[in-house]
Amino acid sequence: MTSTVRRLRTSAHSVGFPVDKIGIKAFGPQGLERLVAQSGQPRFRAAQLTKWIYSRNAISFDEMTDLPAAWRETLASTTPLTAPELVAKQISKLDGTRKYLWRLADGVSVESVGLPGPERLTVCFSTQAGCAMGCSFCATGAAGLTRDLAPGEMADQVRLVGLDFEKRVTNAVAMGQGEPFANYEASLDALRLMNSPDALGIGARHLTVSTCGLTTGIDRFAQEPEQFTLAISLHSAVQATRDTLMPGVRGIPLRALRASVSAYAERTGRRPSFEFALIDGVNDSDAELGALIEFTRGLLCHVNLIPVNTIEGSALRRVTQQRALEFLNALVHSGTESSIRTERGADIDAACGQLKQTASAER
Ligand code: SAH
Ligand code: SF4
Repeated sequence: MTSTVRRLRTSAHSVGFPVDKIGIKAFGPQGLERLVAQSGQPRFRAAQLTKWIYSRNAISFDEMTDLPAAWRETLASTTPLTAPELVAKQISKLDGTRKYLWRLADGVSVESVGLPGPERLTVCFSTQAGCAMGCSFCATGAAGLTRDLAPGEMADQVRLVGLDFEKRVTNAVAMGQGEPFANYEASLDALRLMNSPDALGIGARHLTVSTCGLTTGIDRFAQEPEQFTLAISLHSAVQATRDTLMPGVRGIPLRALRASVSAYAERTGRRPSFEFALIDGVNDSDAELGALIEFTRGLLCHVNLIPVNTIEGSALRRVTQQRALEFLNALVHSGTESSIRTERGADIDAACGQLKQTASAER
């Protein structure tokens, strides 16, 4: 093994992902810069390399004719140019939403969703294969965590969905499978790739992270220099209800969550949103509504109400549109901005929480 390969297998600039398996997609922007420096190449090569991979969609190092041939050979043998392979695609007849199943370089599978709009294309990408948090209403949580995704594996989902639609991706949301703040560094590196003008060039404010409420992640996110957007899955402002629905965050009291979100809003001046999946007979009572109003009172925030999407094998039922409207009106009346999220891709199980983890992607 050459010393370069040995050094690459250590995780110094790949945030701990195995470069021999995942290849160059193990790196975010800084990792690519370090790779270039370590190879003794001038700094501008990092931008060239990034453009070839993420903006010119190269499928081999051979195409990168403005890079020195000898370096291209080294790269090909030490950091292969991998990409997710499309295993299955479904297109919603209702609204054109597309759901994708990808097979990653090591055989692990993940899903992404493309949501077209009149003047936008939003991609919902996964940050982990599976999820360890075990929320009772979410299909992803049911099978546990397979592994974290590397920065390039996240950016590639967004890139490839854009290519499939033959449209520029305007927005990307980390609302697919996984908890982004349980894979913090790679998720942030992925957002930076998406944001980089050399890669996907998506504006920071159009890049959203959704977290189940890991306060250490929220605190860290507040310090990041980019203007990325934050969403927090709340689902109940009553501790006992939230503990049952979201066992993975049982150790984080609502009080601490509110304090972190409030500090985030104050520090950044940006408005975070809370997601609240309304479940019949679980979190839709007047007492739940009262607790939600108290929780959000005086906080710079927006509440997204989502009639829960039903998942296979679950007894949880969605509320009526009438009940969702009652929540909406009461929140707005109390001074908190709110809206009801319309369901997309219902006929292909592509809505929030319906992405499933399969052990490996069979063709
Ligand atoms: N792990 C992160 C991001 C992925 S989930 C998080 O939990 O925030 C994306 C969003 O879908 C979250 O708000 C999540 O709570 C919500 N969700 C999960 N299952 C759902 C369901 N069955 N119906 C509606 N929303 C759901
Ligand atoms: Fe994980 Fe989010 Fe699903 Fe909870 S809702 S299991 S945190 S993906």
